[in-house]
Parts: sequence; C-alpha cells; structure tokens
Amino acid sequence: MDFLRPQTWADALTAKADDVDAVPIQGGTDVMVEMNFDVHRPGALLDLNPIGELTTWEQLPDDTLRVGAGMPYVRIIEELGDRLPGIAQASRTVGSPQIRNRGTVGGNLGGASPAGDLHAPLLAAGAVIEVESAARGTRMIPAADFYVGVKRNCCERDELIRAFHVKPAAGPQYFSKIGTRNAMVIAVCSFSIALYPGEKRIGTGLGSAAPTPRRAYAAEEFLAGVLDWSGPLDDRVVARFGELVADAASPIDDVRGTADYRRHALAVMAKRTLGWAWKDLGNNGKAA
Ligand SMILES: Cc1cc2nc3c(=O)[nH]c(=O)nc-3n(C[C@H](O)[C@H](O)[C@H](O)COP(=O)(O)OP(=O)(O)OC[C@H]3O[C@@H](n4cnc5c(N)ncnc54)[C@H](O)[C@@H]3O)c2cc1C
Repeated sequence: MDFLRPQTWADALTAKADDVDAVPIQGGTDVMVEMNFDVHRPGALLDLNPIGELTTWEQLPDDTLRVGAGMPYVRIIEELGDRLPGIAQASRTVGSPQIRNRGTVGGNLGGASPAGDLHAPLLAAGAVIEVESAARGTRMIPAADFYVGVKRNCCERDELIRAFHVKPAAGPQYFSKIGTRNAMVIAVCSFSIALYPGEKRIGTGLGSAAPTPRRAYAAEEFLAGVLDWSGPLDDRVVARFGELVADAASPIDDVRGTADYRRHALAVMAKRTLGWAWKDLGNNGKAA
C-alpha cells in the first residue's frame, strides 16, 4: 500500500487527482477501523495530517466561521462551543476523549454515515461544505445537498473536503441523541434544532433516521408559520411539530432499534429540544 503524505493543500489535490482511489485519512478513527476489519484495503492512503491549515478556523468578513476539515472535536468544543453550540453539543457526544482528540468533522462528512453525529447540527445550522479539486477548483455545497446515499456524499472522486462554513448561532441550538448507553455509542437516532429569532424561522436536522441525514422541511415551515415568538409555546404546536419531525424520517428496523421506535424517539427529541430552546429565549417555553 502506498502512503501519500502531501505537505500542502495544493499537493494534496494533485495527489488525489493523480490517484482518485487514494483514501484520504484525517483522524483515522473510521479509516483504520475499516482496515483493521478488512472492510476496505485501499491501494493508497492520502494522509492529510501534515496540512496545518486544515486544523485552523477563521471568521470571515461577513462573520461566517470557516472551520478546517481537520479540526478535531475537542478543539471545536473548546474554541467554538460558544459560537456553535449545536455543533459543539454533538461533538461532546462523539465516542470517547480519545476519539474526540483524533476524530474530525471532515472525517464525519467524508464517511457520510447516516448515524454520524455532526450531520444533524450542520443541517440545522445551515452549514455549507467547501470541497475542492485540482481540475475544477472550489465548490460550496449546502449541507442539505451534501448527502446523497447511505455513506455517500456528493464529492467527486478527485475532490477533497477543505472546510465547513457556518454562521455563529443566531439563537438557541440543541442536539439530542438516543443511544443504548450514554457514551461510546452509535446513535439509534438523533435530532438537532436551531432557532433564528431575528428571521423568525427554525432549522432542523435528523440523524440515523433515513438513508441520509436530512432536514424536516415541513416541520420547519409549520413552526415558522405558527410560532408566536414573544409568547409561551402552545402545547398543540409542540405536539404537531413532533409529529411532523417523525413524519420526515424514513427509518429502518436494525440491530440498534426499530423504525417505530425511531419515529417515536424523534418526536420526543423534537418536542424536548424545542422546549429547551424556547426556554433559552426567555419566553416561558415548556419542555415537553
Ligand atoms: C470507538 C469509536 C467511537 C466512535 N463514536 C462515534 C460517535 O459517537 N459518533 C460519530 O459520529 N462517530 C463516531 N465514530 C466514528 C468516527 O470517530 C467519526 O466518524 C469521526 O468524525 C471520523 O473522523 P476522522 O478524522 O477520524 O476520519 P477518518 O477516519 O480519517 O476518515 C473518515 C472518512 O472520511 C474521509 N475523509 C477524511 N478526511 C477527508 C477530507 N478532507 N476530504 C474527503 N474525505 C475525507 C476518509 O477517506 C474516510 O472515508 C466512532 C469511532 C470509533 C472508533
């Protein structure tokens, strides 16, 4: 097996173009597990760790945060937790301290597992994924268009993920995950909510509830249409929101849970997180 170690981003793009089958490796917490279990034995690994810029973040002139694909979870929690609370909350639930030290959002996006924890908060927060190839340059892909199948994203074979772009939270954000235990667990299902009080709208993201992570568009539109942003939450509105979130899922029965349970849990998480977020607004929100 070849082990490619480009020292610059430009060299990494060239290496990927020269060998489109080379498998990028960042933290290796997915890639190495698959190799150890003989799921995948690539002809070449493309190690992105020497490229320092992937492990940095910056605030662009329009306030957008541009976060490098190689930022490990632990640094997202420490350095961006106040500005990206939903993404940080999800990061705190990933694996163990060891996994959070090595694992990256870029790796979560690269694997595109429907059970990956970062997809739901990226969707709710309206993140945009920056990918690049040597031949065609940069593409900016909204998270909602990024996932195209089970463990498949829309990157072309010669493209690499460089960063994700997201605005700092404009209101409360929450992430909730159901697992068979509290830590080191793959989600049975997960849900994320982001409130935008200034624009009077909400964002959602569902994880482990369909072939791809997805938004609950009908639930978002429903809430945007009926919420009284200065008053308490109406129980009927909360209940309907939960139903619409559950309706947005197309889950399966598998070893982690049944489709029925997943739908039920999504409704519960949707109602709870909406209650928590509303409380943060100081509008007498009630947790369901
Ligand atoms: C014990 C254990 C517990 C775990 N718990 C969780 C959990 O709770 N929640 C969760 O979501 N995940 C969990 N994971 C999975 C894993 O840690 C995450 O998916 C993590 O985000 C992967 O990041 P990484 O940097 O290690 O990715 P890597 O393993 O390096 O790469 C993952 C995939 O992304 C591709 N890739 C990496 N970087 C790029 C790039 N820049 N451009 C294009 N493709 C790229 C790789 O080729 C590969 O397909 C766990 C893993 C282990 C071993």
